[in-house]
Amino acid sequence: MTQLIDTFGRVHNNLRISVTDRCNLRCVYCMPEDVTFLDKSALLTFEEMAAFVRAVAPLGIDKVRLTGGEPLLRRDLHKLVRLIVGTPGIRDVGLTTNGLLLAQQADALFAAGLRRLNVSLDTLDEGRFRELSRRDGLDLVLAGLDAAKRAGFTRIKLNAVAIRGFIEHDAVPLARYCREHGFELRFIEYMPIGADSWEREKVFFAHELLDLLEREVAPLAPAADYDPTAPAMDFEYADGGRVGVIASVSRPFCRNCNRLRLTADGKLRNCLFALDETDVKGLLRAGTLDEAKLAEVVRANVWAKWEGHEINTAKFVKPLRTMHRIGG
Ligand code: SAM
Ligand code: SF4
Repeated sequence: MTQLIDTFGRVHNNLRISVTDRCNLRCVYCMPEDVTFLDKSALLTFEEMAAFVRAVAPLGIDKVRLTGGEPLLRRDLHKLVRLIVGTPGIRDVGLTTNGLLLAQQADALFAAGLRRLNVSLDTLDEGRFRELSRRDGLDLVLAGLDAAKRAGFTRIKLNAVAIRGFIEHDAVPLARYCREHGFELRFIEYMPIGADSWEREKVFFAHELLDLLEREVAPLAPAADYDPTAPAMDFEYADGGRVGVIASVSRPFCRNCNRLRLTADGKLRNCLFALDETDVKGLLRAGTLDEAKLAEVVRANVWAKWEGHEINTAKFVKPLRTMHRIGG
């Protein structure tokens, strides 16, 4: 048996690699304003990340997403993309970015073989952009999206965090903007993984978003490829175009989770909310890589995965790492 399987029978084929904990924004739901970043020497090198991917591809990992922190802050990220795209067994490589540096890098990323691109954008209003991200940069994100289209990316997804008090104002303008530009909008329910105090009341739920869009934008129906077990529930507007909701709080997808995470400092996490992690940097830095040992460590980490995050119960414990240090 080569597959990465846990005690609940979940098969893991999806790896998210955080390439840095640094960011050029300070989103309130993700990280504190005053933050100490990892020393550069603590970060895995591209070669170490690529070696990890080569070692886990034979275990069934065929999907990789690069994230962070802000991945485009890592110099020459396209070189890592090229290494991963060229790894036998990897069929799908994606990137999640805040888009600020995308205009400069879209061509190189596309040329390196990247095809899946998610850009995080919560609002089209400059004031709320500043309030949520504690920085300016909306114009850069919009320029980045234009550049990505010109570079050849199709099916670009926009991710917006659904926080009550904000998204009610932004969901409809974002939906209209995405329909106009051919982007696929995805809302993610606000999760307790940032530095701020989270309360369930602050989550704007998926069903409320769908009601709002149906009322203000266009009627919606489940997409032809609607998969109730996938993290995102995808819908189609009656007059064309798609929109998705990731109901991580109101409808957790733990039962079907197939994700494994590698942090920028080389820790393996079997859940976004995991309280334990396994170091793999030691193995990756030990001269000749012992792939059999690494496979054993990865297998054990996946095997130890718990049933789910329990956000909705009194048992929930928030991890010490905040989102930017895990990799969203
Ligand atoms: N910096 C990049 C970006 O913002 O796209 C990549 C890393 S970011 C941590 C990845 C995703 O996590 C983003 O779409 C962000 O909106 C989302 N995210 C961060 N904190 C979140 C939270 N508390 N709840 C839900 N989504 C969150
Ligand atoms: Fe940075 Fe992304 Fe976190 Fe915002 S969500 S602070 S852009 S890592």
